[in-house]
Amino acid sequence: MHESLTPAVDLRSDTVTRPSPGMRAAMAGALLGDDVFGDDPSVNALQKKIAELLGFEAALFMPTGTQSNLCAILSHCRRGDEYIVGQFAHCYRWEGGGAAVFGSVQPQPLEHQADGSLSLSDIEAAVKPDDAHFACTRLLALENTLGGKVMAFDYLRQATELARRRNLACHLDGARLFNAAVAQAAVTGAGIEAEARRIAQLFDSVSVCFSKGLGAPVGSALCGSAEFIARAHRLRKMAGGGMRQAGVLAAAASWALDHQVARLAQDHALAQRLATGLSGIAGVQVEPPQTNIVFVDLVGPAKARAAELLPFLAARGVLATGLYRLRFVTHLDVDAAAIDRTLAAVHEFFRLRT
Ligand SMILES: *Cc1c(COP(=O)(O)O)cnc(C)c1O
Repeated sequence: MHESLTPAVDLRSDTVTRPSPGMRAAMAGALLGDDVFGDDPSVNALQKKIAELLGFEAALFMPTGTQSNLCAILSHCRRGDEYIVGQFAHCYRWEGGGAAVFGSVQPQPLEHQADGSLSLSDIEAAVKPDDAHFACTRLLALENTLGGKVMAFDYLRQATELARRRNLACHLDGARLFNAAVAQAAVTGAGIEAEARRIAQLFDSVSVCFSKGLGAPVGSALCGSAEFIARAHRLRKMAGGGMRQAGVLAAAASWALDHQVARLAQDHALAQRLATGLSGIAGVQVEPPQTNIVFVDLVGPAKARAAELLPFLAARGVLATGLYRLRFVTHLDVDAAAIDRTLAAVHEFFRLRT
C-alpha cells in the first residue's frame, strides 16, 4: 500500500506493525453497533473474552494504554491521594503526568533496582502515615514487562502482598503482559494464557495493549471488578474515550488474541539474534534481552559517536530510537533478514567510524 514510504527495517517500537490480512478480514467482517449505547457486539465480545482470559469480572475497551492507565489510577484514587510507581514506569514518566493533571493524584516515584523491580523496603517506606501532612497513599502501580524486562513472579507476589497489608490497591500496567507470559511460560512449561492469568490475578486491575506486539492497529483493555470497571467507564467518557462503532477495532484486538500471542516467542528470538550479533563489537554494550526489546549503550571511545549511530542506520533503512539509551524493538513486521541487515549496518558503522 505505502510500501515505498515504509522504512525497510523499523525497530523503533512494536507499535509500528500493520494489521495482517487475516486481521483486516476480521475487521471487515465485524458486527457493529454503537458502543456508547453498549450495543456493539464485537466490543462486548472482546471485553468478555479478555476479562475471562485474565480472570476478572469485567473489562473495558480503551482507545490507548495511556487512557487505560489514567482511568485505572483515577478509579482507584481520589483527588489528593497518591500512587507509588517506578521512576521509569510508563504511567509515571511517559503519560504527560496525566494522573496529576486530570485527577489531582500525585505520583510517588521510586528508583528501580537493576532488574526493574521496586525494592520492597522502598515501597514500604513510601507508604505515608495517616497524618494531615501527607497525601493518602492509595495505590501501587507496577509494570510488566518494564523496558522489556520480565518481573519475577515471586517479586510481584511479595510486592502486591505488601501493598494489601498496607491497604493499597494494586494496578498492573501490562501493556506487554503477554510478552511476560510468553517468556515465563518458556521457563515454567505452563500455558501462555495460564501464565498471563497467574500474573494478572495478583492485581486488582490490569491494563493490556493490543497495539504493541499483538499487532492490532489501536486499543487496550482495562480489566477489574465490575464495580471498578463501572467507575472507569464513567472516567473513560469524561476523557473522551467513548467510541461508537468501535467493534471494527475490537475485532482486530480479538483476532490478535486468537492468532498473535504465541508468535511473540519469535519476536523474543529475533531480539536474541540481534543482541548476540551486536555483542561481539568493541564499544557496544548490550543488555541481554528477556523479551522483544534490546537496549544498547556505546561505551569507551565509541560513546562520543553515539549521536551519529541512529542517523547512520536511518540512512541505511534501519530505524531505532535513542531517547535515554539506544533501543531496538522486534515485532511481527521484522524477520531474521531484517535483523541481519541491522547487524550489517551496525558493523559497517564501527568499521568506518572506530
Ligand atoms: C505503550 C505503553 C502504554 C500505552 O501506550 P499508548 O501509546 O497510550 O497505547 C502504557 N504502558 C506501557 C508500558 C507501554 O509500553
